[in-house]
Amino acid sequence: MPTILRIIGIAAAAVLSVSQMDNASAHVLSADVSTSTTAAGGSPAVSSVVLFRNVRIFDGVSARLTGVQDVLIRGSHIERIAPALAAEPNAQIIDGGGRVLMPGLIDAHWHTMLVADPGRGDFENDPAYMAVVAVPEASRALMRGFTTVRDCGGSSFALKNAIDNGVVAGPRIYPSGAMISVTSGHGDFRTPRDLPRTLGAPGSFIDHSGHAVIADSPDEVRMRVREQLMQGASQIKLTAGGGVSSPHSPLDVVTFIPEELHAAVEAASNWGTYVTVHAYTPEAITQAIGAGVKVIEHGSLMDEAAARLMASKGIWLSTQPFPAELGSVFPAGSTQAEKFKEIFGGTDNAFRLARKYRLKTAFGTDLLFSSALGALQNQMLANLTQWYTPGEALVMATGTNGELLQLTGKRNPYPGRIGVVQEGALADLLLVDGDPIADISLIARPEQSLQIIMKDGVIYKNTLP
Ligand SMILES: [Zn+2]
Repeated sequence: MPTILRIIGIAAAAVLSVSQMDNASAHVLSADVSTSTTAAGGSPAVSSVVLFRNVRIFDGVSARLTGVQDVLIRGSHIERIAPALAAEPNAQIIDGGGRVLMPGLIDAHWHTMLVADPGRGDFENDPAYMAVVAVPEASRALMRGFTTVRDCGGSSFALKNAIDNGVVAGPRIYPSGAMISVTSGHGDFRTPRDLPRTLGAPGSFIDHSGHAVIADSPDEVRMRVREQLMQGASQIKLTAGGGVSSPHSPLDVVTFIPEELHAAVEAASNWGTYVTVHAYTPEAITQAIGAGVKVIEHGSLMDEAAARLMASKGIWLSTQPFPAELGSVFPAGSTQAEKFKEIFGGTDNAFRLARKYRLKTAFGTDLLFSSALGALQNQMLANLTQWYTPGEALVMATGTNGELLQLTGKRNPYPGRIGVVQEGALADLLLVDGDPIADISLIARPEQSLQIIMKDGVIYKNTLP
């Protein structure tokens, strides 16, 4: 316990130094948080009232802007949307001047603890170091306009709590906890010297880090799932096939057997939530769906039959428009670099199939191992326009991703509607200097374009004149 406190202490100091350096936005962040009556994520001590005047609304559902409206925020929720609302005496009034108010962005596949870790996936860095670099990166994600992330692997529980308690600034986190893998699978970062493992024996250093964990039987899978749930996982992530960054798994392999996948699905659904799997190939996708998995991460190498199966069962595709730069984290010529090329080559086909079969499709980035790459989060959203209209892309990253979050059911850490600007929804809002539907490149330049960033009714950035 003292270790955790120490990590958070160091991390908070890191955020302060970042905010001091980033004078364009983050100074507003600390000022507004400290004067607010609301702790980020917590219930308001005194209900604060903010009235946005003269805004056009992109509501996260329709790809069209409304006419000029006022939006009243009370505490952490949007209370009223109507033209020319009466001002209350204590309300903070913000004149939007005809700018666009839209929902905060949601990244459906993020790794809070790994995105800025320069470890290239070997998880060998000291966990305290990983936490220290994760904290300012979480703050940067919020400053990029991402007010919610769905964490698809990594021990993000402590950082989530620190954010929710207002200790540091960052997005809402829907944590999966450790990604669960089989021996040799995607997520097994041990070396052959660590073999043989005895079933039930104490875990490896990586198991203990909480970022990835090995399970090799239905019983072990059930236990690992329950361990994540006990720590507060809102959904469970398994790696059902080979992966790019892991050293031992070829891309074509199917890893878990149906009994193991089923054990995970049963344990998660007993807890009121669901399992998502990392899967690129039709074989991995098909087996996982047969076991009751609800969401496929990536799907980059899927075929027509897999897409048809997903459509017929209402399975979500959570996929990523990977930029070529992402390959640069792996040494040229390495197995990982070759595997990345193959996955990258499947991206276009996956999006075409998603469109053709009208799959429920979520936008995520899966950026890893480099803070510089983490900064591509917004550009990746804009890149969706290779397959979608700007309006469709923005709906995907807000309202549609918000629907995916609802699969967590009673385990939803932030009950309420997220990703929409509607009366009664949580007040996660961006004020954009321009119309992002007409010009999505505004979203790719968050420092200039996002003039207000609000999460849970709290203003973290305000650069209005
Ligand atoms: Zn991932």
